Amino acid sequence: MFNVTTGLSIWCSEALTLALVAFMAWRHNVRNKAYFHWGMGFLLSGVGFAMVALRGQIPDIFSVEIGNTIALCGQSAWVAGYLALDRRKLEWWALMPPLLWLGGVFLPWVNDDYTNRVILYNLASAAGATALAMAVYTSAPHSEASRSKLGIVFVIQSVLCFGTALTMAAIDPTDAQAANFAGGAAMATGFLLTFACALTCMVIMERSEKHLRMLSLTDSLTGVLNRRGLFGRFDVIQDNAFHNNRQVAVLLFDLDHFKRVNDRFGHQAGDVVLTVFARMARQFVPDGAFGRMGGEEFAAFTTVADQTEAEALAESIRAEFCRVPVSTGDAIVPVTVSTGVALASAIEANRDKLVSAADRALYAAKAAGRNCTVIFGEAEAAAPPPPEPKQTSGELVPTLDDQIHALRRVGSLSRG
Ligand code: GH3
Ligand code: MG
Ligand code: MG
Repeated sequence: MFNVTTGLSIWCSEALTLALVAFMAWRHNVRNKAYFHWGMGFLLSGVGFAMVALRGQIPDIFSVEIGNTIALCGQSAWVAGYLALDRRKLEWWALMPPLLWLGGVFLPWVNDDYTNRVILYNLASAAGATALAMAVYTSAPHSEASRSKLGIVFVIQSVLCFGTALTMAAIDPTDAQAANFAGGAAMATGFLLTFACALTCMVIMERSEKHLRMLSLTDSLTGVLNRRGLFGRFDVIQDNAFHNNRQVAVLLFDLDHFKRVNDRFGHQAGDVVLTVFARMARQFVPDGAFGRMGGEEFAAFTTVADQTEAEALAESIRAEFCRVPVSTGDAIVPVTVSTGVALASAIEANRDKLVSAADRALYAAKAAGRNCTVIFGEAEAAAPPPPEPKQTSGELVPTLDDQIHALRRVGSLSRG
């Protein structure tokens, strides 16, 4: 009814084609070892099954013992591929399929009996499918939607091979029936592998989409969020504040006289200073969002219990930055930061209004002499922004009120 040799030949040509595709993908991106392992998996599977298909025409040791071992090594290589995809090291259980086979095939009651060999092969193959499911499921950040479907395909494959082995052990089939079992299981495995290939492509696509999205939200110099990424986090933080009965705080940071830093120490040193500040400051807002607004300006969105907590946070960052001068390798760069903070209740918080209020507070801090923090509480932050100053220099001039407020705040901070 079913010609096993034809089935094996079809699989061999399919496997060798897929090996070629995987190797070409690997050549395109040699750093991604997963493609190399998958290519090896298909190559070994194709070669192994070609040797199995040649049973009777080549010595049995090549077609039975070695051919099946090579085919099962293909499964180990696929497992290695999924582990490499997640940058994980090879695990011992990846080698289970060939080890199981080699452990049993030389036992005389297995070696001399075709049915027992098919049972053993299916057990080894079930172990391979289980290892594949483990590699797919046990990855740390397995957030791709298609990953669970891929895992299910491997679980089905494992159940199928294990079920075939158990059924055969139970009914003790003739050699002809055993050949049909072997052919049926191999065909079903072939179908499932085709599904698995399609789902693996989906996982890779979802992963690269996620990577691109992450890049589009990250500042390439400092590694923190860029303006777009930061603004995208505001709603989550506001939600958080609402559910925990806290206020929303926006902290704006502007490095002081940064142009002079560039002029004196060079643009590269300036870049180091920006990176050092970003890495240091983001550690202070583990539950909030920290990002680069552009140039030498940074911002943090976070929740606070009250104005005192916001003040303490901003001051901790400011003080830490001026406490430790930045070493750029060639020079020690003394540099400070001015901070403007605005607060609002979770219900009333509006991102653009808060950022604008924090911006006014920041300019007030600059006007108050730099290296200080100015906070606008709920009432000040909610006040409408002053009319645009009539000036041509392009720099915002703080209002008299802002300056008086800044001096008052700086005074109260230094007293505290
Ligand atoms: P202030 O205290 O008033 O903020 O003075 P400032 O010199 O820091 O402000 P200004 O806006 O005059 O200058 C900002 C400087 O930041 C000018 C620009 O060359 C520099 N800058 C912006 N982006 C980068 C960057 O990515 N790397 C480096 N090294 N410098 C940058
Ligand atoms: Mg600036
Ligand atoms: Mg500046």
